[in-house]
Amino acid sequence: MFAATTRRERVAWRGLAALLTAQVTIYAAGVDDHPVAGLLHNILYLIPGLLVASLASRAPGPVRTAWAFLSAGLLSYAVANLYWWTFVRDLDPEPLITPADPLWLAFYPCLVTALVLVLRHRLPRVSASAWMDGVIAAGAVASLVSVPVLGAIEPAPHSTVLGVVVNAAYPIADIAVAGCLLGAWALSGWRADRVLGLLIAGMGLFAAADTVSMVLLWEGLDVPAAVDLAWLTALSLLALAARQPSGHTRATRPSLWLSTTVPAGLAVCCLGLLLWAALTAHRIPPVSSVLAGIAVTAAIVRMMASVRTAEALGAARRQARTDELTGLANRRFFVERLERELDRPDPGPAVAYVDLDRFKEVNDSFGHDVGDTLLRLVGARMRESLGPEVLLARLGGDEFGLIMPGTGRDRAAEIVDGVLSTLREPFVLPEVDLHVDASIGIAVCPDDGADRSTLLRRADVAMYAAKTGHGGGPVFATGLDDHARARLTMLEELRAGLDRGELVLHYQPKVTVDAAARVTGVEALVRWQHPTRGLVYPDAFLYTAESADLMGRITTVVLDLACRQSRLWHDQGLPVSVAVNLSVSDLRDPGFPEQVGELLRRHRLPPAALELEVTESVLMTDADNALQSLGRLRDMGVRLAVDDYGTGYSSLSYLQVLPVDDLKLDRAFVSRCGVDPRSAAIVHSTVQLAHSLGMQIVAEGVEDADIFERLRGYGCDLAQGYGIARPQDAATTTAWLLERELADRAAA
Ligand code: C2E
Ligand code: CA
Ligand code: CA
Repeated sequence: MFAATTRRERVAWRGLAALLTAQVTIYAAGVDDHPVAGLLHNILYLIPGLLVASLASRAPGPVRTAWAFLSAGLLSYAVANLYWWTFVRDLDPEPLITPADPLWLAFYPCLVTALVLVLRHRLPRVSASAWMDGVIAAGAVASLVSVPVLGAIEPAPHSTVLGVVVNAAYPIADIAVAGCLLGAWALSGWRADRVLGLLIAGMGLFAAADTVSMVLLWEGLDVPAAVDLAWLTALSLLALAARQPSGHTRATRPSLWLSTTVPAGLAVCCLGLLLWAALTAHRIPPVSSVLAGIAVTAAIVRMMASVRTAEALGAARRQARTDELTGLANRRFFVERLERELDRPDPGPAVAYVDLDRFKEVNDSFGHDVGDTLLRLVGARMRESLGPEVLLARLGGDEFGLIMPGTGRDRAAEIVDGVLSTLREPFVLPEVDLHVDASIGIAVCPDDGADRSTLLRRADVAMYAAKTGHGGGPVFATGLDDHARARLTMLEELRAGLDRGELVLHYQPKVTVDAAARVTGVEALVRWQHPTRGLVYPDAFLYTAESADLMGRITTVVLDLACRQSRLWHDQGLPVSVAVNLSVSDLRDPGFPEQVGELLRRHRLPPAALELEVTESVLMTDADNALQSLGRLRDMGVRLAVDDYGTGYSSLSYLQVLPVDDLKLDRAFVSRCGVDPRSAAIVHSTVQLAHSLGMQIVAEGVEDADIFERLRGYGCDLAQGYGIARPQDAATTTAWLLERELADRAAA
């Protein structure tokens, strides 16, 4: 895309092209002494500068300054030309230095400033060493080209030192600028770049024209038309460069190969030149040797910088591939290496996941420092037991990975057994001796998968099978039966689902058992919004989740969702409490009460807005810890309920020590109390029992109005069931709650 061009500018560009053609014609016809031709000639020199000035006025920030400098340079050049045409051209012999020279020479600082600005803009991330390359390229090219240019020409006898310097300055400056541009081009990875291309073409043409003109001047000859045309074309090319789009080049890294070989090659040429001059006693112009010296020095400095950069790069690369704690390879390297192994022809690799058992307990009981030390020792010991061909990586946490290249099932089993047996020796730490067990899952290519993700997934599944299986010892992915596989696949999906936020809550209201049937709260019931299987109910996944230690995470998610929803209801003027079901493992975690307190603070909820339901089995498995946690929660003001009462073995004595508010009578009794006198008796006596212990009684599974009326007769406090409302998603529950609220108000 070209920079937006105004109409006036378009006319000017066309005019420039037309005038150039006219100039060619004039030269061809040999009528260049005609005053009209002279006028045309000077206008032609002026146009590029004016065009660039106009472009500069509309260009964005940094580019504007660059083109302003370029336009100043071009205009200065044009003014110099006008002076020369008017006052110098007809003198014979032409003086070596005239007032036009400073004007002409002023072009170069302007041009260089413009180039520095525009290149900084186009190559935004050019480092110091990259600029060094520019110096090498410029010095080398200038030195090499200046040898024939300066050496071959004997200045005219009447020339002064200043005359020689001034007139040689033009081609040398051209060559230096062109060299810098070449260097910049090299930096951009020799990418096709119109601006650089046009600038280099322009400066190359300038160099040629200035060289020829210098030679002719020293020999006292007139400059031919072709040289004049070359100057004009060169100026037009520079102007054209300014007309190119100003967006900077994509910030791709220049190829390491080019950015090292090009400067090195050039420096070698310079060194060659100096050596050749010294060995053959051939006199080369002092300017050339100085330039060559600059290029070689810059190359040496550059080389030193490169070595340091390479060292830093190497260190960074090592860091990116090693695990800081153990010094083993990390997951990134593990994955890269596996890809490489899989690319090789047969036989494929075997991979193993090694997961330490109960590592969390070590961390919890002895602290993270001991945990870290243990991981280091485990890593080192495993590494020692493995041959150099096996890659051992720490994949994160207490999980390690092995890649065994070209290893079949039997050999993989041997290697892994070796690992297990070295781990069996206790680890002696200053604080404590620790015994470590590990669960290992193995997948073999191609039996268990030929691509990376399948192979790793299968190894992971096998590792979990090893963890949950009771036999101990490593498990092969191949050996897993369909049931185990399905179960493990579900676990994998559940883990991913947790990360993706696939768990949702449905809510079932609880109402007072009286004529008003006022809503007091809702129970949050978890569902898994599975991407393909649809809504999955808790019975289908909670048991498996518990066995794989996932319940902690699930409870955290559910608590958060429930509190968030409760906050929304509070904000809508619906201060219902939300009940959340806990699992056995939640109360085992001593940090759990604190976690709940944090959550309530975060959602700005009063503790009474949350109720926690625990089943009797919680108390059976871990009574002391559970009682402690429950006590702390109750002290915080959180309501507690015993869930599914009647299905377990809890004795009355337990109920007495439990700090609970509600007793939830299981629906097995409630639903049958209309037809089964025994159930009716249980319900009735449980209501009395609860009341005598200062608890409220909640009847679960109330499916119709008949049961509701019976419960009312027994003095039951609260009821929950399909007959009142089914569990519904948040939006439906909100609508239901609002409707009830309106009806209640109308009745009051
Ligand atoms: P629960 O705590 O006893 O929850 C009541 C279950 O009974 C719910 O099943 C509910 O839909 C169902 N239900 C309610 N009223 C009636 C009725 O009138 N008749 C019948 N037949 N059933 C009724 P759901 O949602 O499938 O939950 C099943 C169990 O899963 C729950 O039993 C609870 O133990 C567990 N659960 C649900 N959500 C969570 C959770 O977030 N965390 C934990 N740890 N467990 C949960
Ligand atoms: Ca419940
Ligand atoms: Ca229940």
